[in-house]
Formats: sequence, C-alpha cells, structure tokens
Amino acid sequence: MSPDLAQLQGLEERYLMRTYKRAPVEFVRGEGASLWDADGREYLDFLAGISVCSVGHCHPDVVAAVRDQFGRLAHVSNLFYTEPMVRLAERLAESSLGGRVFFANSGTEANECAIKVARKHAHGRGIAEPEIVSFESDFHGRTYGSLAATPGLAASETLGPMLPGFRSVPFDDAGALREAVGANTAAVLIEPIQGESGIHPLGDETLAAAREACDETGALLILDEIQTGIGRTGSLWAYEQTPVRPDLITAAKALGGGYPIGACITSAEAGEVLEPGDHGSTFAGGAVAAAAALAVLEIVDTPELLRGVREQGAALRAGLEALDGVEEVRGRGLMIGAGLAEDIDAAAVGADLLQRGLVVNVPAPRTLRLLPPLVVDAEQIERAVALIGESLHDAL
Ligand code: PLP
Repeated sequence: MSPDLAQLQGLEERYLMRTYKRAPVEFVRGEGASLWDADGREYLDFLAGISVCSVGHCHPDVVAAVRDQFGRLAHVSNLFYTEPMVRLAERLAESSLGGRVFFANSGTEANECAIKVARKHAHGRGIAEPEIVSFESDFHGRTYGSLAATPGLAASETLGPMLPGFRSVPFDDAGALREAVGANTAAVLIEPIQGESGIHPLGDETLAAAREACDETGALLILDEIQTGIGRTGSLWAYEQTPVRPDLITAAKALGGGYPIGACITSAEAGEVLEPGDHGSTFAGGAVAAAAALAVLEIVDTPELLRGVREQGAALRAGLEALDGVEEVRGRGLMIGAGLAEDIDAAAVGADLLQRGLVVNVPAPRTLRLLPPLVVDAEQIERAVALIGESLHDAL
C-alpha cells in the first residue's frame, strides 16, 4: 500500500533537507487546470507549479512528444547533435532577439549563463571589475551568481561570502538606476515584472531608462523572463509589450511545460561572446527536454492562445477587483497579484483556499499570487474568483 500523507511527512522529516515548508497535500494526478489529491479530491490549480505547467497538466501533445523522444533517444550530451535541440534554438532565437541560445536545466542556470556573457563582454571592453546592477527586490535564482543578483537573499551572512561585482538600487527607481550604471557596468539584470516579490510590474519609463543607460555605457540589458516568458503576460515575451528590446533574455519554468529546461537567448552581438570552453552542461538541451519545449511552443505561440491569456487575464483581474478585501490587483495577462487589505492574514487565506480546493500561493505578506495555466477557461476563472471571494468574506 502506498504511504498516506502522515507517513510521507514522517519520511520527509527524516530524509529531506529542511529547505521547504510544504502544504499538507499529496497530489497524485493532474489534467488541464485540475489536480487530484491522494483521496481523489479535485483542486483548481491557479499556481501551475509556479508558472511551469502553463499548457495545463499532462497536455496530450507534450506527453506524446516526451514519450516519443524518450522512447527513441533520451540523451547523448552536447558533444553531438540532436534535431530537437537545434530546432528549439532556432525557434527561440527567431521568436525573440535573433542571436544565439545556450540551454540550461533551470532558471537560475539560465541566468548564470547571462552573467557569464555579461562579464566576458565587459572584460572585452577593458573593464577589470565588471558590475551587474539589479533591483532590490528582484529574484534571479539560488546558485551563487544568480543569488548575488537577488539582493534579499544575498544579504544572508550565513551563506557568504557572496560573489563580488553585484549592486542593487531601489525597485522601479529610474534615477537611481541611471546613477548606478557607469563605466564599470557589465549589465543591468532585471525582471520586467517581479514575480517572487509579489507581482510588481516595472514601469515603462524605468525600462526605457535602463535601455538608455546601457546604450550610453555599452552595458548589456538582460531581462529575466523566467516567470514572465512563454506567453504568461499575453505575448510570447513580456518585453514585447514594453518600449525596450533587451540584449539577452533568460527563460525556464513554462518552457518545458513541466519538463525542466532553461535557456539564455541573445541578440546577434551578445551571441558572439562565449566561445568553446567558456560554459557547458551535461544535461542541458537534452533531446527530451527540447522535444517537450517544442511541443509547448506549438501550443503557446499562437495568436488564439495569447489572445485567450489577455482575455482571461482581464476577466480574472475584473473579478478580483470587485471583491471586498482586495485593495489592488497587479500584473499583466495571467500573471496576477492580488494585494489584500491590511487586516487580512494572506497566509491564512492561502491555506483556507487550499482547503476549499483552490491552489494559489502567498509570495509576500498581503499578496495572493495567481498563475493559472494559460489554457484556463472562463468557467474556471469564475470559480476561482468565487472561492477567493468566499474565503475573503470569512476572513474579514
Ligand atoms: N528568475 C525568476 C524571475 C524566477 O521567478 C525564478 C524562480 O522562481 C528564477 C529566476 C529561478 O528559477 P529556478 O527556480 O528554475 O532556478
């Protein structure tokens, strides 16, 4: 017999490092925007594995692509060619900055590649001690390069010393950013819409200031699209809805539809920086991950699906705005943060919603984060808004 939840928790306590506080539910199956727990109870998933399962759980096309590729050839390493890997690079580059792609296995690794490109590019411009500038509440990942660009976490003394060459300025402060970018700046590395801090879009003026400052100094503009990319905001890339074109973008999360993959995508110029020996990965760009990502892009990168994201996002936003207890709704497309009234315990609301059968998350005090699959329908949006309304009603 399979272990029950209490037994799983006992095994976790004994064998897993204590890095996560898991919610008390064991999921065993998923389909579209639905999840089922071990007791057969259905949940509406408005988190999608933190913006990963964007085409819904177990999309038949992604399942078929993974099964087919794994059944023929799973892995050969980057010492050889496979067609899915090269085709995916073509598709990602042609859909964005037109340069080159380095594959990774996660978001943080995609950013590591971008950081290497930026540092080497800066050394090529004669900068001995290159610096990367980010915003104070940015999140770029947990490996040491990305961590150093994630000021809230880099402040940890117990994980130090941190990698040198990183600095941060207050969020969305165009003036402070312009002042920070100077002769030693290798890159500005920022999220177009902050995800982990609680869904905070960057103003267009600040993005434009970042682009200008980079152009003036020769620094690279890197947009971390790990949470915003692959259709989440209603365009394939979030930057398409802004006035700027970055020099690099990083992607991960939704790219593989549940299969781990990341990518660092460059402009033509930035694509020439890394050479053999500068970077590498055993697993990255593996044929199965690439096949999954190609299947995901076939589904997401269509005008119909992207229009659906904008329409359902508008409906979700309107529904939330009408609820008592919601003070503001932030975000774009289906990347939504609901700012709750001060007297509401957002963590308790998140836990209560799980009890009611709706999966969301609370990344910051007073914030519910909603990242439903991009294939979510109007009825599911209505149901989620109704559940949030009931929960807030009881909390007020
Ligand atoms: N960058 C952003 C904007 C993210 O939201 C995340 C993860 O939440 C990361 C980087 C790190 O990605 P990963 O957890 O796949 O390493």
